[in-house]
Amino acid sequence: MTTPLYDEDFGPAVLAPARPSTERLLEGLNSQQRAAVVHEGTPLLVVAGAGSGKTKVLTTRIAYLLAARGVQPGEVLAITFTNKAAGEMKERVAALVGPRARVMWVSTFHSACVRILRAEGRKIGFTSTFSIYDQADAARLMTLVCRDLDLDPKRYPARALSHQVSDLKNELVDWETARDRAETVHHKQLAEVYATYQARLRQANAMDFDDLIMTTVDILQAFPDVAEHYRRRFRHVLVDEYQDTNHAQYTLVRELVGSSVGREKGGASTSVPTAELCVVGDADQSIYAFRGADIRNIMAFEEDFPDSEVVLLEQNYRSTQTILSAANAVIAKNPDRKDKRLWTDAGDGAPIVGYVADNEHDEAAFVASEVDRLSDEGLAKAYEVAVFYRTNAQSRSFEEVFIRVGLPYRVVGGVRFYERKEVRDALAYLRVLANPADTVSLRRILNTPRRGIGDRAEACIEAFASRERIGFAEAVRRCGEVTGLAVRSSKAVQEFAALMDELRTLVDGQMPPAEVLEAVLDRSGYLAELAASVDPQDESRVENLSELVGVAREFSERVPEGGVAEFMEQVSLVADADTVPGEGDGVVTLMTLHAAKGLEYPVVFLTGLEDGIFPHLRALGNEVELQEERRLAYVGITRARQRLYLSRSHMRSVWGQTSYNPASRFLDEVPDTLVDWRRSASSVTSTPALSSVTSRVMASSRGRTAGPGLRPIPALEVGDRVNHDAFGLGTVTAARGAGDAAQAEVDFGAGTGAKWLLLRYAPLEKLARS
Ligand code: ATP
Ligand code: MG
Repeated sequence: MTTPLYDEDFGPAVLAPARPSTERLLEGLNSQQRAAVVHEGTPLLVVAGAGSGKTKVLTTRIAYLLAARGVQPGEVLAITFTNKAAGEMKERVAALVGPRARVMWVSTFHSACVRILRAEGRKIGFTSTFSIYDQADAARLMTLVCRDLDLDPKRYPARALSHQVSDLKNELVDWETARDRAETVHHKQLAEVYATYQARLRQANAMDFDDLIMTTVDILQAFPDVAEHYRRRFRHVLVDEYQDTNHAQYTLVRELVGSSVGREKGGASTSVPTAELCVVGDADQSIYAFRGADIRNIMAFEEDFPDSEVVLLEQNYRSTQTILSAANAVIAKNPDRKDKRLWTDAGDGAPIVGYVADNEHDEAAFVASEVDRLSDEGLAKAYEVAVFYRTNAQSRSFEEVFIRVGLPYRVVGGVRFYERKEVRDALAYLRVLANPADTVSLRRILNTPRRGIGDRAEACIEAFASRERIGFAEAVRRCGEVTGLAVRSSKAVQEFAALMDELRTLVDGQMPPAEVLEAVLDRSGYLAELAASVDPQDESRVENLSELVGVAREFSERVPEGGVAEFMEQVSLVADADTVPGEGDGVVTLMTLHAAKGLEYPVVFLTGLEDGIFPHLRALGNEVELQEERRLAYVGITRARQRLYLSRSHMRSVWGQTSYNPASRFLDEVPDTLVDWRRSASSVTSTPALSSVTSRVMASSRGRTAGPGLRPIPALEVGDRVNHDAFGLGTVTAARGAGDAAQAEVDFGAGTGAKWLLLRYAPLEKLARS
């Protein structure tokens, strides 16, 4: 679309006159979009519904700043919500202005903070190679902290504490403040956990994701010279998806822009004039309240920045009128919102297709056959199709069916590459090499691969470390002095320390990350252990590790001077959305609704529209959460450009339980005139209350219609032999009930064991007695 512009007007060899190129930048924009792009000076808020070109305005504005207003790329800071969006924006800007786009900061909040912290962390005692703990690392550390503090895991589950600490950080409440404010027993306990957790992070020279933002804000507020440095540098700050910023991120923006007005302290006035701020967002698309996103940030923008201007966009360029009308009808049910009527001149387009499936496999099969049909009829290719669902677990049934029918797909999110055990193990080595104080990673690899350093040995080292008030790494080094350590363990620890020293010399010698990684896998014996294994899973582990080496190689090609620390920095920040497939991949994309923000697809399947699934069970009795679910539905519907499918399943197994959920209220809110129902009711009409035993059995025999009432119920006695579709041969060990309620306990032998089955539904055949 915009590529020719780059070649003709901005190619490095051609110094094009500013005028005509500026004109071309604005070509095709409507008058409001234009106004937002050329706006100068005061803070600017662009609020508008989905698909109205907010992101396009942001991108074009950046290009315009460079082309028409003499702004240098280095003076621009653009914040997006995901790395994927950042990459896309950089590409769009590069297409407009060429390679100059490279020095521009286009990144997520987290990445921008990492860059600042690598440069400034020293001021508060972090080295530039500090580790970044992702959620899994943070959870591990929290578990260690709870153990240290001897907390009852039932009363104080580590997961819940992690969440609470995260919430505090998103509100910029540090542990000292949390301690001072604590009144109840619980809050006091939480404050102690928080304090210990932070101390452990600091010992490890590490920060978790929330720290990245909070610590940056701390530095900017505590060191006016640092704040001034960045304010001088960033003359233009632009933020996409502003509705999903939380308090910490909001404050960060204010600190960077240098505004001294607002809801809270901060923004100490300096000699630097405030930067130009441009934020774009849509209050109807705020879907991250559970991460502390505060919809008020967008609602209160005009209060916070009194001289600000607001631009409204009303034309939607993404979707057909049918799709927009559906979206409008659903979101209109949320109270307390500013009504904004989106319109499009794209015409009505195809009607929305509705489908009621018998079960989730049937629903997946319907999606697969529709994708086939669209592709056969030349209406859409696989890569133009996205399937959305509410929770990650729902991807399974789609995957099963897609694999069976040979439909290529990719799941965004779920168990991600970087969450696989072997990948995490390998990265833990690199992290320890980059940051020797990183205790969580060090303990992870201490006995990985197994080298005879057991839990007891680890505990002895830890005890020694705390007695001597030294870090765990230092204790490993001085393992000769550790009391209670068996000679064999002590030797193993010494060898481990020597291995790490040896590997560290490679890092110090500026060896590229890929080669360091290969040395790690080889010299640690990690690969050898996998190679010797007979577990077929270990084979794919080896493949994943070689893929990781490939990732490191690619990194070196892009950043030739980048070492292990830089590589780790990049890896730590890869968000789930990064794996969103592109056109070249030729696959259907599966993802949760949360991951879909900001994206668009010609064809969208919005699945699992059942009360209790979407809206989520948790939200059913809670008005505030229900509103957020409705916004999520609005996000989902408005991703579609030409075709939208809405489906639900009459019956579905969730966590091994079969549930019958009524149609989602969101489905009912879509006007019937917009929907062409391919199938409007399930063929299964009864909704019997099933015991969980039965449900599990049914879950395991998924794919076949149980057809209740159609099959004779087998009369079983103790001692009868039976064959079960899923569990195989078994012997009846007990029987009870009669008719529809008849049940039998069947022992399926080793592996499966004994199970109670409801005979009406169990796919069971009685074998003739021999
Ligand atoms: P969301 O709220 O979902 O993030 P958005 O407001 O950011 O949406 P964009 O993604 O910027 O919307 O734009 C939606 C689509 O409309 C994109 O394909 C974009 O290229 C196109 N578009 C935006 N403005 C125009 C325009 N003036 N002329 C033609 N196409 C446009
Ligand atoms: Mg957008």
